Amino acid sequence: MLAASRRWRAQGLTVGLVPTMGALHAGHLSLIEAARSENSMVVVSIFVNPIQFGPGEDFARYPRDPAHDAELLRGAGVDAVYRPSVDAMYPPGSTTRVHVSGVADPLEGAARPGHFEGVATVVSKLLTAVEPDRAYFGQKDAQQAAVVKRLARDLDFGVEIRVCPTVREADGLALSSRNAYLNPEERTAAVSLSSALRLATAAYSAGERSPEQLRKVLCARLEAEPLARVEYAQVVDPETFEPPGTLAVLAVRIGKTRLIDNHDLSKVFPG
Ligand code: AMP
Repeated sequence: MLAASRRWRAQGLTVGLVPTMGALHAGHLSLIEAARSENSMVVVSIFVNPIQFGPGEDFARYPRDPAHDAELLRGAGVDAVYRPSVDAMYPPGSTTRVHVSGVADPLEGAARPGHFEGVATVVSKLLTAVEPDRAYFGQKDAQQAAVVKRLARDLDFGVEIRVCPTVREADGLALSSRNAYLNPEERTAAVSLSSALRLATAAYSAGERSPEQLRKVLCARLEAEPLARVEYAQVVDPETFEPPGTLAVLAVRIGKTRLIDNHDLSKVFPG
């Protein structure tokens, strides 16, 4: 991949990288679209990264659909797809991990020990393999995007990290490859996340500023949903992910499926 990318850049072309784990959907396509609009060449990586999944998480059953991915990518005007194998990414004996502290510690970092180390390691390797001018991440995984920004700055990757808005279903549910796990009742219950964010946004725009009150608005909506179990619901600073702030962040189990979502309460909730 690096040879092609270097050849393009030597010709004065710019390269945008969109890292994904496949099972592509309209959220991924929006990142590709943004990359296309800002770069001459677009590379999409597809790699289900084993080291960002904890023991007992869904690595083995994570949705994989190469035929559907290929179909979506054909229509998306992508110049190259980088699809390394697990062995190529982590040859036997490789033990180096990239650890970001601070922003990677609370919330997702606390709930999923080792997760951001896995993310930071694979993103470092992808940036090294492609040497893009810009790399595209979704606001859907807000803390991940913040961790990647920190990483890119601290390790001098010389890449611009771009964060694109969350793409949602008509009823507000944020698109996610993991939505495929939901049965029809769970799919209905899953709207509670975006609905809670919408209610907290309304409370904020009506003047509520107390993090505790805003948290109560989030939790009241989520707890009204019998299939939902709240893992965390906080209102934090969008850079540090510590309170106080305006970014509402949620991790909620709907049945066995763990969903995350977030919204900056100072901004209009879409839809
Ligand atoms: P994933 O394949 O789930 O690892 O996601 C790859 C990239 O797509 C990440 O940067 C995600 O934040 C982003 N992404 C996932 N879902 C959405 C969405 N609904 N809207 C925008 N970006 C998304």
